[in-house]
Amino acid sequence: MVDKIVLDVSDLRIDFHTEQGKIRAVDQVDFQLKKGRILGIAGESGCGKSVTALSIMRLLPKPVSRIVKGRALYNDQNIYDLPVSDMRSIRGKKISMIFQEPMTALNPVHGIGKQLIEIYKLHFPGLSYREMAAASLKMLRKVGIPDPDKVMKKYPHHLSGGMRQRIMIAMSLACEPDILIADEPTTALDVTVQAQILDLIRSFQAKSNMSVILITHDLGVIAENCDDVVVMYAGRIAEKADALTLFKYPRHPYTIGLLKSIPSLAGEPKTILPTIKGNVPSLQDMPDGCRFASRCPVAEEICKKKVPGQRSMGHNHTAACHLADTKFFEKKGFI
Ligand code: SF4
Repeated sequence: MVDKIVLDVSDLRIDFHTEQGKIRAVDQVDFQLKKGRILGIAGESGCGKSVTALSIMRLLPKPVSRIVKGRALYNDQNIYDLPVSDMRSIRGKKISMIFQEPMTALNPVHGIGKQLIEIYKLHFPGLSYREMAAASLKMLRKVGIPDPDKVMKKYPHHLSGGMRQRIMIAMSLACEPDILIADEPTTALDVTVQAQILDLIRSFQAKSNMSVILITHDLGVIAENCDDVVVMYAGRIAEKADALTLFKYPRHPYTIGLLKSIPSLAGEPKTILPTIKGNVPSLQDMPDGCRFASRCPVAEEICKKKVPGQRSMGHNHTAACHLADTKFFEKKGFI
């Protein structure tokens, strides 16, 4: 059976106009989110993953940012073309987002109960206040908040980081959205709370068959939670595949480098992990050819001259690399 595509992003290009000039933060980005699946978007800070997510929510800062090209189809409608009023009824109701730092997403001067009830007021105005309060309490219970009656009266600063993130999850799932975008939802939390929050997202996803975009720099998080993966580098997609294929048969030198740098329990103890040498090029000064060329251990002359397009590596697996070929990499001693 073919999985239904709930979000189809194609040929996306986003520019930022800064005092230093124009920055192309996202370029040639294509991916599809399938019904009931978790798509991980991985990459270093500044690779364009959060900018892509914010564009889907139509929350990019104006007027500095501009969607120059591309579309994001949701229910056969291009999100980028929707009137503001239509977008308001989608944002938070059909497509929701959890942010990295819940303290900045929650309003510090309003109580938790008021903030939850506001969501029902906005999207379900036909409900009575009593029904909205009951629905809010139910959501808090669902996300595992102890003493939800008391928490309804508290303010964000009364709660721990993990509790605040649970509140954010309750708010983002209150309307049972089709799509949840979680942007580094566990970065600010300690390891045990991280695992609890990811479990919570996964259990909601499984129960409701919701589709999730999970943005993270942590490939371990992707391996444990995602069905499909997009690896981004310097504003472009380096590689995409289903998670099993990507971890087993990575084809892009950047993905291979990232995977090599993950510690393994099977490896020799106290060995120095390989790193990807060099830095991501500045978005203001991108090279003409492959953006990874200055760091790529197998780069050849063509890489500096020509932008690599997405090449098919098999079923639903592509890599933007002129030389993506296991045999070639083996010969070079890279894998
Ligand atoms: Fe490396 Fe060239 Fe492939 Fe870019 S196109 S990743 S520089 S081999």
